[in-house]
Amino acid sequence: MNGLRMVEQRIFRVLATVLAMAALLWLPRNSVLADEKNGELDIYFIDVEGGAATLLVTPAGESILIDSGYPDYGGRDLNRIVRVVKEVAGRSRIDKAIVSHWHLDHYGNHAALVSKVPVTAFYDRGIPEDLAEDKGFPERIALYRAATQNKSTALSPGDKLLLKNAESGQGAPQLTAEVITSSGKTIPNVGPANPFAREHVAKPEDTSDNARSLSLLFKLGDFAFLTCGDLTWNTEHRLMSPHNPIGQVDLFMVTHHGLDVSNNPVLVKAIEPVATVTCNGPTKGGMLPVLKTLETIPTLKAQFQLHRNIKLGDEVQPPPHRIANSSDTAECKGHYIKASVSPDGKQFRIQVEGKQPEMFETLLRR
Ligand SMILES: [Zn+2]
Repeated sequence: MNGLRMVEQRIFRVLATVLAMAALLWLPRNSVLADEKNGELDIYFIDVEGGAATLLVTPAGESILIDSGYPDYGGRDLNRIVRVVKEVAGRSRIDKAIVSHWHLDHYGNHAALVSKVPVTAFYDRGIPEDLAEDKGFPERIALYRAATQNKSTALSPGDKLLLKNAESGQGAPQLTAEVITSSGKTIPNVGPANPFAREHVAKPEDTSDNARSLSLLFKLGDFAFLTCGDLTWNTEHRLMSPHNPIGQVDLFMVTHHGLDVSNNPVLVKAIEPVATVTCNGPTKGGMLPVLKTLETIPTLKAQFQLHRNIKLGDEVQPPPHRIANSSDTAECKGHYIKASVSPDGKQFRIQVEGKQPEMFETLLRR
């Protein structure tokens, strides 16, 4: 009897060990489950003091970070990005980390990110041999190459990001993302005539990397979101003249922090946004000529800004409830702006961190 009981106890212990190991194996799956999503598309405009860092969390729970703010400043921008990714959006990883172009306020933390949060894949406009405007480029790009293990994917106009979409179907629209510009090239200029093409007034040719920015167009049903990095005036004109190959968009991330060397009326008027978000800083971007151009757009319901432009009168800027941060950088809390798109793509709401969300209807134009 005693011998039999000992055998039973041994079997029990073996079973308990197997169950414990099975539970351990299950844990990573549970953390993946924690990344599941409510079917909305969320877009977080993270405040990086006049740089850019935009996190999209797709209806299927995939996370896409476009740009990563400035390096240094005691990890200021890196910490703000990690807070939004992990604590606000509840993501355990970044599935796609994208660089719009090779300026420090856009890829400042791509290399450092991997020590804070796993990154599955990197995308960019292609890595140039050198960058005339940045003497530190060779050193910085070496860090990027190391972080990506030399496996970043160069995107070209017309490329589509391979996105996970919910398999359940049930008539829900699928999210798509198309590359519109990259490395100075654009998608073909086809489509309806652009009535604003004649408003183009050429500016001096921009030889910086801004002109080679990656632009992306995301669509979910009738909803469209356009983000163009720091794309500049003459490239915007080439993209949008004489035809409009983009169509209209509901949410537009105002290009290049709202600087007036970008945001050619040929582009911004033709896309007829319903709402805009400007990723400016207290003394960078959010410029009056751009605010004025946007004001002339009949479809536009609201302009949002990450910062109050402290050099400009309040009366010409969006109202305080549409501005995320009002102080200068030293005092700044780094509040984000979040847009959430309904699963059917028919409505979206925009919320400044800590304030009430505002609802917008997607325009049925496409
Ligand atoms: Zn920039």
